[in-house]
Amino acid sequence: MIDLGDSWIDLSENISFTFFILAIINLLVYFIQLMIKGNRSAKYSFAAHSEVKALSRGSKLISLAIFFLLFAMIANAFGRAQFYEFIFVGFISFMISFMIGYGFSTYLQYYYPFILEKRLRNIRFKRLKSTSGNSMRLMNELEEDEFLTNEMIALEDASEADFDVWIDEVTGEKVIQKYDMSEKALICHRCNFRTLKERNEKVILEATEHENGKVEKSYNCTYCNLKEVREGSTLSLSKKRELALL
Ligand SMILES: [Zn+2]
Repeated sequence: MIDLGDSWIDLSENISFTFFILAIINLLVYFIQLMIKGNRSAKYSFAAHSEVKALSRGSKLISLAIFFLLFAMIANAFGRAQFYEFIFVGFISFMISFMIGYGFSTYLQYYYPFILEKRLRNIRFKRLKSTSGNSMRLMNELEEDEFLTNEMIALEDASEADFDVWIDEVTGEKVIQKYDMSEKALICHRCNFRTLKERNEKVILEATEHENGKVEKSYNCTYCNLKEVREGSTLSLSKKRELALL
């Protein structure tokens, strides 16, 4: 008979507490990093890249914290238990915390994209004030082309980036904001989530020095599993050099 005693339960409680603190620190660090980003396009790309990763790290830490907390709680309820009972307690705690962790990850994968998309839209289209304090108006796609350079339009056409042009209609001040779209998932037409990810790219026509190339991109929606093939263009070599993409 081995008596594991209170020291294990105490240890388990302390480890649980440590994981909870780590989870909170992880989320705080993420939201502080997001908060101090200088402009909305930096904020946007940081959130698009890192928010799900930070939340998923946080949920793993919380699942671990729950495991150790359950272990301590159930072991406490057993009182002075034998070794095999501790193994049983460990198993039960693992099953419950694993299911909670699985729940978190399913939520992040299937439901969170919808929330993230809304959050990203809020960041991108939040009211913008000009330097003279007037609220600026966002130009539509047709209006904005007048103020975008050919390079910017080429980048938009190749789905490398999106540009928003804001104008202060009183002073004429303009602000152009760039959003990097090269790695971002697209909106799926079936489920409307931004979960359509590029899986494969087949070159149909090689880009030459001055002519754009053609590619066939296969997409797969990670939410509803829709498969789609789209034709896209790649920038000509000279344009790529100009934009320092090479
Ligand atoms: Zn879909």
